Amino acid sequence: MSDAAIELAGVNKWFDTFHVLKDINLTVKNGERVVICGPSGSGKSTVVRCINQLEKHQQGTIRVDGVELTDDPKSAASIRSEVGMVFQQFNLFPHLTVLENLTLGPIKARGLSRKDAEEKARKYLDRVHIPDQADKRPVQLSGGQQQRVAIARSLCMEPRVLLFDEPTSALDPEMISEVLDVMVELAQEGMTMVVVTHEMGFARKVADKMIFMDAGEIVEEGHPEHFFTNPQSERCRKFLSQIL
Ligand code: ADP
Ligand code: MG
Repeated sequence: MSDAAIELAGVNKWFDTFHVLKDINLTVKNGERVVICGPSGSGKSTVVRCINQLEKHQQGTIRVDGVELTDDPKSAASIRSEVGMVFQQFNLFPHLTVLENLTLGPIKARGLSRKDAEEKARKYLDRVHIPDQADKRPVQLSGGQQQRVAIARSLCMEPRVLLFDEPTSALDPEMISEVLDVMVELAQEGMTMVVVTHEMGFARKVADKMIFMDAGEIVEEGHPEHFFTNPQSERCRKFLSQIL
């Protein structure tokens, strides 16, 4: 088993002629938590979407669990089964109940029986502290509850790595902490996580490594202790002074 859960080496990506990712090098070790921050439009979402193969990079290599991502559809399928993703906009199926949202993947993609899938779903609903919401539809839940359903849904696929793209940005302020608390618990349980967020309290608590991106580049990278107290670049300093 490779020590690196995720490895990006010399990754470049263009949208048409726009150079969106410039020579990205990033290693996420097993059990490590990496937090990515940076101004809007800096390429944070594109990085995580490339790791999950929702986007294709044009140069460099991305390895997940030692396996290089290629154009082979099988590679996309196997990577997606190892890498869970939680989006800003929850992306739950509105016509399905919470329980059905959670059992769909394990039944269709993993071949679990309905009974086993439901057992697993209830376990993870319990884990995100909403065991009593199983039979509701997403629209009947608060935003914070919906996002916790989305996290539980990812966990039901037993991913090796969880990617979060601004998971609390769409939430009312009073619901942010209930989602971050669940994420802190996952981190404490040893989950490998890549989290795009501007919640710096969360980052200080769980990050093993901070990444600051600007204009498609990783400008700065470091342990939270140094990152927050002694940022090296002017761009990072400016960004932190705006959000802290
Ligand atoms: P961030 O998540 O840091 O806000 P993104 O990765 O979403 O940044 O976007 C980086 C840049 O790429 C932005 O300038 C954005 O407008 C552009 N971009 C993102 N997705 C696309 C796309 N599908 N086609 C063209 N440009 C895109
Ligand atoms: Mg984004």
